[in-house]
Amino acid sequence: MKAFVNEFKEFISRGNVMDMAVGVVVGSAFTSIVNSLVNDIIMPIVGIITGGIDFSSLKIGLGGAQIAYGNFLNAIINFLIVAFAIFCVVKAMNTFREKSAELIGIQKAEEETATPVCPFCFEEVKEGATRCPHCGAEIPAAQVPGTEEAPAEA
Ligand SMILES: [Zn+2]
Repeated sequence: MKAFVNEFKEFISRGNVMDMAVGVVVGSAFTSIVNSLVNDIIMPIVGIITGGIDFSSLKIGLGGAQIAYGNFLNAIINFLIVAFAIFCVVKAMNTFREKSAELIGIQKAEEETATPVCPFCFEEVKEGATRCPHCGAEIPAAQVPGTEEAPAEA
């Protein structure tokens, strides 16, 4: 039983659950926006174009039953809008991720190619050199750029 509780704790704290909860909440809020967009803005415009047809009132009487195919059309349009919006968001996020990966790559390449500099004459010296070939000064290993980072952590 204890193992079961621990497993449940782990499951909750893993982050996936929280992400999922956020997704669900944002998703339902997003759904109401899309519904409003479709019902209040797009469908009236469609109605104007199609000559004053209110989609949600479109029905066919069939025997005693009513087939509300207008609502069905609304649902299809809702779905298309949601799919399109999500496609745009995912596309934007992919572009952002590619850009940031590119930037990180450039930064890393710059760090790797950074040449150490003599602290006295500021001429470039070879990695690991202890004496500057330009001014002849002794180069303290700690002052060569690249190794001087992380100032004295107490
Ligand atoms: Zn020098």
